[in-house]
Parts: sequence; C-alpha cells; structure tokens
Amino acid sequence: MTKYVFVTGGVVSSLGKGITAASLGMLLKKRGFKVSIIKLDPYINVDAGTMNPFQHGEVFVTDDGAETDLDLGHYERFIDESLSSSNNVTTGKIYSRVISKEREGRYLGATVQVIPHITSEIQQRVLSVADGRDIVICEIGGTVGDIEGLPFLEAIRQMVSRVGRENVLYCHVTLVPYIAAAGELKTKPTQHSVNELRRIGIQPDVIVCRSQYALGQELRDKIALFCNVAKDCVIVALDADTIYKVPLQLSEQGFDGLVLRRLSLPEDGKPDLNDWKRFVSTFTNAEEEVEIAMVGKYTALKDAYLSVVEAVLHAGISNGCRVKIRHVEAEEIETGGAESRLAGVDAILVPGGFGARGTEGKIAAARFARERKIPYFGLCLGMQVAVVEFARNVCGIVGAHSAEIDPATPNPVIHLMEEQKEMERLGGTMRLGAYPCELVEGSRAHHAYGKLLIRERHRHRFEFNNDYRERFEAMGLRVAGICPGRNLVEIVELADHPWFVGVQFHPEFTSRPVTSQPLFRDFVAAALAKRRNG
Ligand code: GLN
Repeated sequence: MTKYVFVTGGVVSSLGKGITAASLGMLLKKRGFKVSIIKLDPYINVDAGTMNPFQHGEVFVTDDGAETDLDLGHYERFIDESLSSSNNVTTGKIYSRVISKEREGRYLGATVQVIPHITSEIQQRVLSVADGRDIVICEIGGTVGDIEGLPFLEAIRQMVSRVGRENVLYCHVTLVPYIAAAGELKTKPTQHSVNELRRIGIQPDVIVCRSQYALGQELRDKIALFCNVAKDCVIVALDADTIYKVPLQLSEQGFDGLVLRRLSLPEDGKPDLNDWKRFVSTFTNAEEEVEIAMVGKYTALKDAYLSVVEAVLHAGISNGCRVKIRHVEAEEIETGGAESRLAGVDAILVPGGFGARGTEGKIAAARFARERKIPYFGLCLGMQVAVVEFARNVCGIVGAHSAEIDPATPNPVIHLMEEQKEMERLGGTMRLGAYPCELVEGSRAHHAYGKLLIRERHRHRFEFNNDYRERFEAMGLRVAGICPGRNLVEIVELADHPWFVGVQFHPEFTSRPVTSQPLFRDFVAAALAKRRNG
C-alpha cells in the first residue's frame, strides 16, 4: 500500500515548502524507499509555460516536454530522478479535464461540482503517480487560506477516507518570525495557520517551522501543545546558506525517521548521506573561487534562472571551487559598456530567453568572450546570439539576425524552419522536452560527455539555419552536435578558443548536485584554468 505525505504551507509564501518536500523525498529515497513527488499548483494557468519568469521564476522543463513549476527542478535535483508532466498538476489542468469530460457526457446527468468532481479529479492525479511507489510526497502550492487552494486542501482531506488514515501524513510548513523589538520568536502565526487548516478538517501530524534562529524546547513544546501535535513532531528548518544543507539539518532532528514511524514503515537503517555531506562540505570549505558573468534579462529576480544557477554551483563543487555569479543586465551593455561590466570575469554565460529585448547586449557579450578568449557558454538563446555575432563580425554578414529578433531579415541565421511555418499557423511550434543529439568526435562536447549520443531537454522555437553551416565551419565555428534524423544543429563551438560552446538545448535542467552536468563542469573547469593562468 502506497503511503502519502501531504505538504502544505502557512503564514507566508516562499517558506521553503518545496525544499522541505524535496529534502524528505531525498532522505526517504536514501533509506531505500521508492518515492515519487507531485506538486499541486492552485493557479489557473494550465501549465507554467505562459508565465512570466519575473513573477513566477523559471519554467522547468521535463523530459516529456512539460513546462512546469520550478519546484520540480528542486525535486529532480534532490531525489535524483527525472519527473514528467504528471508530477505537476494545476487548477487549469484539473478544470479542463473535468469540463471536457462533462462535454463528453461522462457525468451522466449529474450536476458537476467542486466537491466531488474537482476534488476526485485532483485525487486521481495524486493516485496516478503512486504506481510501484512506497511513498508519494505531494506538495500543495500557495498558502493555507488562499481561496484557490481550497479544492486542493479538501481533496487531500478526503484522501484519508480513500486510502486510510494510517497511510496519510500531513506536514505543515510555517514561519516562526523573530520580532527584533521584543527580541523574541513568535509562535502565534503558526498557531493561526494550523487553526485555519483544522477549520477545514486537516490536523497536521508534523509541523516544520522555518526560522532564523534555533527554537528552544519550550517553544517547541508550546507549538506542540497549541497545534495539537506530538512534541517530537515539531521540526525546525533554520535558514541555511545553501538549500543543500536543509536535508542534513532535517535528518539530524529525526524528520525522516519520524515520518516513517508515523506511517508505520520500517525505520531501521539510516540514510547514507555521505556523498551529499561531501558536496556540502566542499561548498563550505572550497578555497578557490571563480567569477562568472551571467548576461540575462531577469537578473534582478534570483529565481528566473534558478536551474542555471544551481548547475553552475554543482559544476563548481565538482571542480572543488566556489562560483560567484556576476549578474549583468543585457540591456545595459547594448550600447557599449561590455568592457567595464564584464571586466575581470573568468567566464561568461548567456542563458535562454525570449523576445528581442536585451538581445544586442547578449550579442555584445558573446563578441567580448570570443575576442578576449574568455570561456563562453551559451544556452539556447545564448547559442543563437553567439551564432548571430559570428555571422556579423567574423563572416561579415551585415545585418545578420535571428528571425525572432528581426522578422524582416532575409534568410536569418537563426530561423523558423519551413515545416514549422504551417504548424505555427495552427498554434505552438515549440520544440519541447528531451531529444537525442549525436556528438562530433573530438569536439569539446564529446570530451565533456565522454560518449557520442546524448539526450538533453529543449524549449525553443527557432533553429540554426543550415544554409550557413559550411560558411560558418570554414571560418571556425564548428558544429559539434546534431539531432539525428532531423539534421538540426544542436551544438556549436569555436575552434580557436579555450572554451566557447553554444547549445540549442537547456543542459541546466539535467544537472544534479552530486553528478554535475558535463558541459557545465567543463565550462567551470575552463573558468578555473583562466583564473589560475591569468
Ligand atoms: N527565443 C528563442 C527560441 O525560441 C530561444 C529560446 C530559449 O532560449 N529558451 O528559439
């Protein structure tokens, strides 16, 4: 019988509910349990694909091409498993399904209602990821008390009657704020948010208190008493300088053991956290540091490039160093200024992006890296701008452009392919999800991966225009990876440069803490070499 852990959040958002769920998943998996994680997002968008990264952070792409909430990235990185579209459910998905079923006449004359139709549909989604798993961890997005979260909370409340109380555990993550004027940590918001949950019929079993400072036994006991949980079921999640410390911290307090006990699962044997501990200790103790400029559009919002930042950090650890990221607003280097903004960096990274704004700045960054022989890594749009830059400044193609940026350019070097144009009229043409890529022997990419066939995830519309391939190659921009069967250029590299690689895919999505993504690893190694050699 599969067990279910539901993770809700109270008081404020951004508490680290996702990290708590991911940490628990990792700890249980390291104890040998088969774990799955699902995120229920109460917003009405069908998926995160159309959401502005400025507001909502990065859109995380899975192997099967789902555009999901960034928490799925945390889950994948923590439990070290690839997830799919079924691991992220939104109100939009639920309602579209229920409404189309209604239109198909599948409800046999019933009045279709939130309870039971919407709530059953939600439960179905949770049950659908349980196949072959010992434990399903289900995080509910948003904060208790939000109007749109109610059907989800009702659905998880009903799960008790569906699968049995002994197979369900409710974990509520709250904030215990520190009031400087009083010099005190306050438990009242936690009490209120637990009351809110109880009002709708959910009594949490475990409370995870996010706090700036350690909570003494007295405070823990108080929370236990007022929130009606056992004393050992109050866990503290202290602010940490890296999210990767959180599972270690939770485990030290016996979080995983407690969850197992509550679910009547065997808790013998401790999780083997050695590789994770090594990772965290390198993060803390690394003496060398490299500085990488990230030239992007949403640099003010930390979460907009979350997976890229994580991948760079993992790569740093695998090279035994720390990575400092210098966020550079692309628009600010559009009309000069690259020189001063990029001065002294050990490497330059241009991440993915959409739309024309800031593109000239990214092109300037690629040029700077090429001419100064600074290691360069271009991800998706970052590859496309490198190609445009090469076309203009090395091949002398005046006005070279991408079709996305300047639709009026004749025969753009980055274009929408003929076969896409018909599809474009019918709706989306995004290339989404994992595609195979054949590497060219002896290329930097081949060196990094150590094999010739790889798979990486995509999320883009435009492609390298093969009309230019020969001309570019003759001038030193080598094609290093091709999508087999479709002849799409996936990787370009500069021949005469220490490390200059542009990839049409998003390698950041497959980087994991202990097994850093090979291209990121080699990119940071090149940055380190530059730093050492000046
Ligand atoms: N906007 C570009 C395209 O659609 C690049 C997308 C990206 O960087 N993810 O092809």
